[in-house]
Amino acid sequence: MPSTTLLPGMTVIAPTTLAAAVAALADDPGITVLAGGTDLMVGVNDGRHRPASVLSLRRVDGLRGWQREGDELVLGGATTYTDLLAPDLAALAPGLAMAARTVGSPQIRNTGTIGGNLATASPAGDTLPVLVALGAEVVLVSHRGERRMPVEQFLTGPKRSALDPDELVAEVRLPAADGPQEYLKIGVRNAMVIAVASCALVVRRTERTVRCVLGAVGPVPVRAPEAEAWVAGRIDWDAGRLNDGSVAAEFGSQLAAAARPIDDHRATAAYRRTAAGVLARRALERAFPAPVVP
Ligand SMILES: Cc1cc2nc3c(=O)[nH]c(=O)nc-3n(C[C@H](O)[C@H](O)[C@H](O)COP(=O)(O)OP(=O)(O)OC[C@H]3O[C@@H](n4cnc5c(N)ncnc54)[C@H](O)[C@@H]3O)c2cc1C
Repeated sequence: MPSTTLLPGMTVIAPTTLAAAVAALADDPGITVLAGGTDLMVGVNDGRHRPASVLSLRRVDGLRGWQREGDELVLGGATTYTDLLAPDLAALAPGLAMAARTVGSPQIRNTGTIGGNLATASPAGDTLPVLVALGAEVVLVSHRGERRMPVEQFLTGPKRSALDPDELVAEVRLPAADGPQEYLKIGVRNAMVIAVASCALVVRRTERTVRCVLGAVGPVPVRAPEAEAWVAGRIDWDAGRLNDGSVAAEFGSQLAAAARPIDDHRATAAYRRTAAGVLARRALERAFPAPVVP
């Protein structure tokens, strides 16, 4: 396998197959996985992190891109935010495209990957609330085989996940859209910021369900299953609208109550809770717009 040097004393290997990547991880479980580098290289560049060996995923065949399998979309772990914005994929996964559009700058979106967002497991990671709202699953691959689990179970805490040191995020599997999807985010400014609060909402018309997940207001994405069930019973599903004008406000209050925010240098817990409620209300109103009165 070709190897190069990134920094003095740092070896980089760049396999071209998933099998070779997994074998390299098995040989050296201390090796550091590098995808787009937009999280990893921040630590390397400021001297906090100096891996002796790096496994680059950039050349692994088939790890980037997507395909449709029936009603399921299969995204490779190295699929970038820019890939998620392509119109054909965005039409099938609009919530993910909305989240991707809010990430960083064009340069970050061109190189940052969905697998990196998952493995970093930041409470503010923009794809994470959407993936939980979609009921998406991750496929983790190692020399021991493959395991599959819901993203909700994969994320175990702030910057913690169920990923073992010898595993790769090989795929993310999610259902194709079957109704409106929304992703709304508040940051300290409009662009190039991580979320102070975010909200993903996924409607499945066939199942008549609403899933709403908050980001950046808890150690992991926050769901409120009781609020989801409550609102599903207050929608006129045939007309595609809310039963009355008070539903969205009450839904926002229920989501705000479910948030578990902390104070930090970006925002107070109180602001985050209020923001989460406002985002949930707006997301629901966008998914089920009130009829225009002539
Ligand atoms: C300027 C800037 C702006 C940013 N803005 C945002 C933003 O708005 N929203 C947001 O959510 N994030 C943001 N980020 C963070 C970052 O871009 C994302 O988290 C991105 O998805 C990370 O992906 P990557 O491919 O660059 O990961 P890398 O940096 O390559 O890796 C990150 C971590 O994941 C591991 N890893 C990567 N891929 C895999 C895999 N397939 N399997 C197993 N482990 C893997 C690596 O070992 C490392 O620990 C920003 C970063 C920067 C520098």
